[in-house]
Amino acid sequence: MHGRARDAWRTTPQRAAVLDALRALDVFVSAQGLHTALVADGTAVGLSTVYRTLRLLEAAGHVDVVRDGDGERLYRPRPDGGHRHYLVCRECGLGLAVDSEEVEEWVVRIARDIGFHAVDHTVELTGVCDGCRPGPADHRTGS
Ligand SMILES: [Zn+2]
Ligand SMILES: [Zn+2]
Repeated sequence: MHGRARDAWRTTPQRAAVLDALRALDVFVSAQGLHTALVADGTAVGLSTVYRTLRLLEAAGHVDVVRDGDGERLYRPRPDGGHRHYLVCRECGLGLAVDSEEVEEWVVRIARDIGFHAVDHTVELTGVCDGCRPGPADHRTGS
């Protein structure tokens, strides 16, 4: 494993509150949504602080980020031990971790073949979850 210089993150009480709130919500959430949750919980924190904290968390590798249909960034704490890829519902924001072993191996192979180091990648999968799918679930294939 190669170490990445990701030590820009320093904990402050406000940042800790933002991260705690993010961990408490187990779905992908926007900065706005997280701010609303924090305020509802009695935490006095500005929206700009939430935005800035989420950016820092992202830069430090502590959160996973996806974009919703409108291009808004949605955040979720990254589990210990590396990043995950998620399949995210465009309707309700439900995020399910998916097996990405093949993607990881592909990245390693591409990086090695081309001779790049510290290659990072972003994979975003979005769809509509079963609960949000209109009508009875059937199994039509093709168009
Ligand atoms: Zn859904
Ligand atoms: Zn990956």
